[in-house]
Amino acid sequence: MIFTKPELPYAPDALAPVISAETISFHWGKHEQAYIDTLNSLIEGTEFQEMPLEEIIVKSDGKVFNNASQAWNHIFYFMQFLPGGKKTPGGSLLKQIESQFGTFDAFKEKFVDTGATIFGSGWVWLSVDDKGGLVITAAKNAENPLTSGLRPILVFDVWEHAYYLDYQNRRKDYLAKLWDIVDWSVVETRFE
Ligand code: MN
Repeated sequence: MIFTKPELPYAPDALAPVISAETISFHWGKHEQAYIDTLNSLIEGTEFQEMPLEEIIVKSDGKVFNNASQAWNHIFYFMQFLPGGKKTPGGSLLKQIESQFGTFDAFKEKFVDTGATIFGSGWVWLSVDDKGGLVITAAKNAENPLTSGLRPILVFDVWEHAYYLDYQNRRKDYLAKLWDIVDWSVVETRFE
């Protein structure tokens, strides 16, 4: 199938000042488009052509994996944000966070610290394991928890292209500010 970039459910300047319109135009407009275009050209005429994106991620490696995973990861990342979204988790997700991390604030601190200490490019993920437990993982480059049998529910991008225009080298400041725009109703839906 030919993959296309979905429309964002908010205006390009809607996440500012946490993520500026300029970063959206490069990160979503150019980087994500390049991953999708490259993936489409790589899979043409191959066994991957008929697979959904998640299946390609689990079954591929090398360039196909890198571009498929990056294409998926960025959709997952940008679709979890909404200005004026739900600011804190509730229900069973909040209970699970509190039972494993103590408090919501302690969870946020651990998640940001994990992302801040990744050496080089990558992603910090929150996923659900097969027993319903939450797992924070530090991922390099395009790595995705789907390949470990985990079900991702939240992700922060720590590639420099995600924050350099707005925060320069201050990765931890960028990560901490992302909490202002996460829509926890999206994360709760992914968790359930
Ligand atoms: Mn990125």
